[in-house]
Order: sequence, then structure tokens, then C-alpha cells
Amino acid sequence: MTKVALVTGGSGGIGRAVALELAARGNRVAVNYYVGFAEAAAEVLEEIGSAGGEGVTVQADVSDPQDVAQMFATVTEQLGPVDILVNNAGITRDGLLLRMETDDWDAVLSTNLRSVYLCSKAALRPMVRSRWGRIVSISSVAGLSGNVGQANYAASKAGVVGFTKSVAKEVGSRGVTVNAIAPGFIDTDMTRKLPDEVRDAASGSIALGRFGLPREVASAVGYLASEDAAYITGQVLVVDGGMAL
Ligand code: NAP
Repeated sequence: MTKVALVTGGSGGIGRAVALELAARGNRVAVNYYVGFAEAAAEVLEEIGSAGGEGVTVQADVSDPQDVAQMFATVTEQLGPVDILVNNAGITRDGLLLRMETDDWDAVLSTNLRSVYLCSKAALRPMVRSRWGRIVSISSVAGLSGNVGQANYAASKAGVVGFTKSVAKEVGSRGVTVNAIAPGFIDTDMTRKLPDEVRDAASGSIALGRFGLPREVASAVGYLASEDAAYITGQVLVVDGGMAL
């Protein structure tokens, strides 16, 4: 049966690829975007439509409780209750801890972790009621190994891991699986901001010798969100080309 999927930050690099992957797998997809990216989200929807899929775009700041409530109400009204939630929206505000501004800490924790709490909570009730659901959150290898200049980001992504394992235990008996993906370096706007020397050094530490593509993360999300992954929950799947070995 056709499922309804919601992808937060669905207009960006990985989110866009995830939205397209879930649509290609026959799901109807709600593409969330934040301020000023309506055009990018509309392009994703157009691409879904031209491949024969169906979906909607929905604007919301996923760190804001009222926006999240409104987003779920809109998606439920237009497509039906969310069966598959992909918590993908995320930001970086890098800096060494001794120089980090509290605003940068708060912004990253809100966008990357508070959003996961808000959206998962909103998605869970109908999933539990229908005895089927998939929550897949995009963590990061930084959340597993830490990274210089990313204390805020790594803390938020480690938080996603703890959240995932806890909620997996809470709702497993109701047919809902909760998993995370920890990408390494993926070629998106987020990593294009890095200086060339950092990108080169990073590539040298990856067994496959290159950055990943958004669709290589998306195919892992597609699998975890599918019926085939029904017996996998509370896991963190590392998609990093063999970087954190
Ligand atoms: P990206 O291209 O910058 O996309 C990030 C997305 O998050 C954008 O669509 C952005 O929407 C959205 N977003 C930011 N703040 C939001 C908010 N408050 N409410 C709703 N949406 C918001 O970055 P990406 O590389 O695709 O990253 C996607 C996810 O993968 C993130 O969680 C990131 O931490 C994670 N990740 C990325 C890498 C990598 O190497 N790229 C590695 C590990 C993990 P707008 O554009 O509309 O603002």
C-alpha cells in the first residue's frame, strides 16, 4: 500500500535525494523546507511529479513547536497521516569550544535535535495507532567519533543516536521502527563550504577515497523506511565510505 512520507529539510542536498528515493519507491512525499527555499522544494516536487509520483511541499521551521504542529496538520490533511518520517533538517555553526557563542550552540541543538524530538513525537501517535511506522533520522559520524570545531554539532548528532535507541525500545511492540543513519562526508552545500585543504585531507581518510553522493545516503534511508527492514530497529547505519573504521 502507498505510504505517506515526510522529509524535513527536503529541499537540500541529502533531503532532496531522500524525497526522490522515497517517491521512486512508491510513497507519497511531503517535502518540508525552511524560509526562502520554496523554489527548491517546488523543484523537488516537480521532479517527483514528472517521474509519476505524488507529493506536497510544506514550509516549517522544524525547531518550532507551532510550525511543526501546523506542518503535520497540513500533511495529514493533504496526503494522510505520516507513515514514514525522515528527520533530515540540520545545520552547522562550527567553532572551537573556547570561542563558541552560546547562540551557535542553541541554534545547532534546536535545529538538529529539538526538531527530532518535536517531529517524532508528532508522527508517533498515528503510527502507533496504525501499528506501522518508520522513523529514520540523519545523525553523523561526528556524533559517533567527535570532530574538532564541532562540539555543538557532534553533541546534537550524538543526541539523535540516544534518542533513536530509546524511542526504538518504547515503540517496537507497536510495529514502529526507529533508526538513524550516520553519513560521513557527503557532497552537499554543507561540505562545499569547507576549505579545499580540509576536503582533500578528509578524502585521504576515506577508504573509498571520495566524498559520498546524496543518493548513496538516500538509498540507505529508502531501505530502512521499507517493509524489507521490518526487523531492524534502534540501529545506526554508518554511510561513510569506510572513514570511521
Ligand atoms: P544542506 O544541503 O545544507 O541541507 C540541510 C537542509 O536542512 C536544508 O534543506 C535546510 O532547509 C534544512 N533546514 C535547516 N534548518 C531548518 C529548519 N529550522 N527547519 C526546516 N528545515 C531546515 O545539508 P545536507 O548536507 O543535505 O544535510 C542534511 C542532513 O545530513 C543534516 O542533518 C546534516 O547534519 C546531515 N549530515 C550531512 C553530512 C554531509 O557531509 N553533507 C554528513 C553527515 C550528516 P532550507 O534550505 O530550506 O533552509
